[in-house]
Amino acid sequence: MTRLFALLLVTTFAACSGPAPVKPDQPPAPAQPGAGDRKYLLERVDDAAVVQLYADGFSSLPLKQKTLIYHLYQAALAGRDIFIDQKHRDALAMRDILEPIVAHPQGVDAAVLAEIQRYTKLFWLNNGPYNNLTARKFVLKITPEQLWAAVQAAAKSGARYYTGEEGMEAKLKRLQPMFFDPNVDPIVTNKTPGKGKDILQASANNLYYNVSLGDLKGFTEKYGLNSRLVKQNGKLVEEVYKLDGKYSTQITAIIQHLDAAKAFAEPPMAKALEALVKFYRSGEEADRKAYDIAWVQDKDSPVDTINGFIEVYLDPRGVKGSWEGLVFYVNREKTQRIKTIATNAQWFEDHMPWDAKYRKANVQGIVANAIDVVIETGDSGPVTPVGINLPNDQEIREKYGSKSVALSNVNEAYDRSSPGSMRGEFGWSPEEAQRAEKFATFSGELTTDMHEVIGHASGRQAEGKGNPQSLIKEEFSALEEGRADLVGLYFIADPKMVELGIIPAADHEATYRAEYEAYTRNALVQLRRIREGTQIEEDHMRNRQMIVHWLVANTKAIERRTRDGKTYLVMVDPKAFHEGVGRLLAEVQRIKSEGDYAAAKKLFETYGVHFDPKLRDEVVARVDKLNLPSYSGFVMPKLTAVTGADGAITDVTISYPQDLTKQMLEYSGVFIKK
Ligand SMILES: [Zn+2]
Repeated sequence: MTRLFALLLVTTFAACSGPAPVKPDQPPAPAQPGAGDRKYLLERVDDAAVVQLYADGFSSLPLKQKTLIYHLYQAALAGRDIFIDQKHRDALAMRDILEPIVAHPQGVDAAVLAEIQRYTKLFWLNNGPYNNLTARKFVLKITPEQLWAAVQAAAKSGARYYTGEEGMEAKLKRLQPMFFDPNVDPIVTNKTPGKGKDILQASANNLYYNVSLGDLKGFTEKYGLNSRLVKQNGKLVEEVYKLDGKYSTQITAIIQHLDAAKAFAEPPMAKALEALVKFYRSGEEADRKAYDIAWVQDKDSPVDTINGFIEVYLDPRGVKGSWEGLVFYVNREKTQRIKTIATNAQWFEDHMPWDAKYRKANVQGIVANAIDVVIETGDSGPVTPVGINLPNDQEIREKYGSKSVALSNVNEAYDRSSPGSMRGEFGWSPEEAQRAEKFATFSGELTTDMHEVIGHASGRQAEGKGNPQSLIKEEFSALEEGRADLVGLYFIADPKMVELGIIPAADHEATYRAEYEAYTRNALVQLRRIREGTQIEEDHMRNRQMIVHWLVANTKAIERRTRDGKTYLVMVDPKAFHEGVGRLLAEVQRIKSEGDYAAAKKLFETYGVHFDPKLRDEVVARVDKLNLPSYSGFVMPKLTAVTGADGAITDVTISYPQDLTKQMLEYSGVFIKK
């Protein structure tokens, strides 16, 4: 599992290996110098927020790196339509009808236009007509006749449609069920279909066509990750994603831009780009492996890209890769903090609050990079992850390692676009809310760094207790996530943070206090995500419930209070919190080191799994009243190349469109000539 998503805006979730920052109610981060009160939240579309992403460090990069990024940016744009087509076989045809109307609105009935705009924006944010979170189709809430009238009115204003021989009327008729009928192809990825259908038949995506699970029996798939599987005349055919294969038009353009980028890359990265081009040309598994290895071996490059068929969440079988393109550079300041923690990993290990026999003699912190993203397309944009760990190939991970990145500017944009109403609603006092506003973004990032860099990497097994995963079974993931969280919570209050220059002395107490308060509130706030049942399944949620409720029961750190019929969890004593975290961490480490399954089960059964549905209902009602968005989509920065007389790039400038419609129409590029 390789990416972390900030689901529902306010709680970031790890799909772990990743860190899981606790963000019950992220406040705005302290303003960047010069950032002023620039716009982050641009608009709301139903339950989606549209947010501008900024990449402040770009302008000060050397020209060579800017030029490299520019070509990689073009490569990321070149593949954008692949993912839209992977989502549904009609999605691009649908977009070809919507975009000309939005670009030529003159003469279209106002109410009809507003609905087409709403639908098109959701379509853009989700790369097709399916909601990212629920996988369900959304539909256009006008009549087919009204859409037809809008098509004609826009045509009179200069809109041009590409309908080929089919003609517009026939095309609209063909697409009518996709636009208007929620029951036709209702779910893009369905892993739990009802009776009579299997997961492939029940899923509307375009990774398969006319194929059932039964058809796959006895079939040897040669291009698992990078092909569309089609049944033709009773036979299965793999349409391979490669040059001169499926998506050849887009792949040809991607290759051109990657080739152009190569000249500006340092040798290890140039080698990786060359391997990627080779894979795009051949589509062969061996070339994909060679690329993965070259990419993971390029560890020090200040600029990097992910471009290809990567994650497999769209496929209910978890085999076929969705196309995505990301381009980013290392955020030096934030990476420095991670490296400081990693360099001092042995000190932290020697001061872990657990029995000395469970401490490692030679611990190595995991090195990860904090990055700023310049563009994300396909499966990673406009809705983006906040952390990524690749490659997915387990064999390569074990042999060559992996690269882990935290998307700093995405996190910042999430924070800065979030309304402060959550911390107001669930914080006990104005002081608590103010502290959260001032310190909780930073404290959350810091504990996330520690979770990842010294948390998971720490501790050792007792003699003869090998693989803790097989000993602790289904309780293991939640226990391990809890252990990593506890390491962060424990050390954030340690004077070492000041000594290492990570937290200024004057802010230290307020910082860890804000973190403890935020972590405590989260145990309440996260209940809004489980709208049914009385049990928590997700491992990160379990571990956070466990920690907070263990502290409630075993220390004087947290009080449960009520006011005006509302429930609050109030962190009242940071010393007791810290001391309790140390005690719990010692026990959690003992459980892991000794493989004590019974103790793990008891710990989670007592504190982590069950909750009071009445309390959940109260939390849900309070959150719904705040009308928070369920997810965010980002408007990406825009790069423009400045060229000299000879056509060579002399500078690359960055700007921020602050307008989803403008950016999406520009990406599609059909309206510039009128
Ligand atoms: Zn983790």
